[in-house]
Amino acid sequence: MITLKIKDLDKVNERVGENNLLITCSNCPYWNYSRETVDEIAGKLNAGIYNVDRICEREAIIVDVLDYDSVLVFSCGAGTQVISEVLDTEAIPVADTYALGVRFGEVIRTYCQACGNCILDQTAGLCPITRCPKGLLNGPCDGMQRGMCETGEHSCIWALIFRRMEKKHKLDDFLKINIPPVGRK
Ligand code: SF4
Ligand code: SF4
Repeated sequence: MITLKIKDLDKVNERVGENNLLITCSNCPYWNYSRETVDEIAGKLNAGIYNVDRICEREAIIVDVLDYDSVLVFSCGAGTQVISEVLDTEAIPVADTYALGVRFGEVIRTYCQACGNCILDQTAGLCPITRCPKGLLNGPCDGMQRGMCETGEHSCIWALIFRRMEKKHKLDDFLKINIPPVGRK
């Protein structure tokens, strides 16, 4: 799922008029924010809500923007740009696109930052760029204790990578890990 962080709504409010529309992408954002949160955002920003199943499907967006002072969007950055293009208007995001997450009960854990240079083939399918707080490409660091990250909040991802490769009898490959600098191609 794409995970979003709601912006400072007081700052967003400084940019909008009295009668606004908040367009939401029903399929994605509700994964990490509730319907009630969307209602609260709309209330704070004097906006009615227009739900689109998937903003990526451009033909589903039918709105007369002349009826509104400002068009706000609660979706990923791609969705906000689609709204701007399809409606030929300024689209104001109310959230920052953060990362790709996985739900564990009520908790969303970030698993991928869409870095554009996936190294999971070298790291036993686990992402240290995202799941090591230091983003280390050559862990574990000396803070690891009994398989736990030095933060004490979760397992050390490099310990998990090691264990998984050990199980597959690939420790030689672990020692050879030589990940190139990460960056978008
Ligand atoms: S290496 Fe990059 S693309 Fe692959 S899971 Fe990690 S952040 Fe995502
Ligand atoms: S203990 Fe492991 S996960 Fe935590 S910062 Fe060090 S290398 Fe990264």
